[in-house]
Amino acid sequence: MTNTKIKFIDTHTHHLIESEDIILIKNYFPKDLISSDTFFSIGIHPWYIDLNTSEAEIKLIEIHFKNQNCIAIGECGLDRAIKFDYQYQKSIFIKQLKLAQKHKKPAIIHSVKAYQDIINIIKTEKITIPIIFHGFSKNQHIHSVCLKIPTFYFSFGKSLLNSSTTQKNLLGTPLNRIFLETDDSQVAIEEIYQKASLIKNISIDSLKNQLFLNFQNIFNVDLKEENGEKLA
Ligand SMILES: [Zn+2]
Repeated sequence: MTNTKIKFIDTHTHHLIESEDIILIKNYFPKDLISSDTFFSIGIHPWYIDLNTSEAEIKLIEIHFKNQNCIAIGECGLDRAIKFDYQYQKSIFIKQLKLAQKHKKPAIIHSVKAYQDIINIIKTEKITIPIIFHGFSKNQHIHSVCLKIPTFYFSFGKSLLNSSTTQKNLLGTPLNRIFLETDDSQVAIEEIYQKASLIKNISIDSLKNQLFLNFQNIFNVDLKEENGEKLA
């Protein structure tokens, strides 16, 4: 039995799921039609950078930041596995990070073979907002390098269910730097929590409590009402 008063947090999802038990951060791209009923992040994904519209999209992101449900930028980042010009990816990424820094919003990051570049950018641009690497499934070396940077957080998703590397990364990450997510998968967030609680050897309720706390702290949201109190 789990305590249904504490909600599951799905830190990064492309699906709008309506459930009393789940708080989610829905991912939107700037051109999307946004439902403002739920928390959301907004950002230019490196796969969808458009030379003609990216600058205008960055302005649009800043407008959405005024919405109190817009609690993060992203997903944004760098991807070396795509053919799109890497220098241009970098410039769009840096602009988004600076915007997030200006508005004190955390960033949800997509990174493919780009960790070192992201670390360098964070340092050079003096970015101090929380950086949440979503779908984290990298090797242990990268994980240990990222762990040393105190503003870095790790969101684990579907690969937790079957990748021993991801499982080891979760095991080696302090509880106060962990998030869980479903991304674009059909896996239920409950299932990912279940797996994470087994790996960390803590109860689901303790895990829910901790991730709720992480969510409030890092995304700077006041969730008194959401904390199950209205159900009490
Ligand atoms: Zn995603």
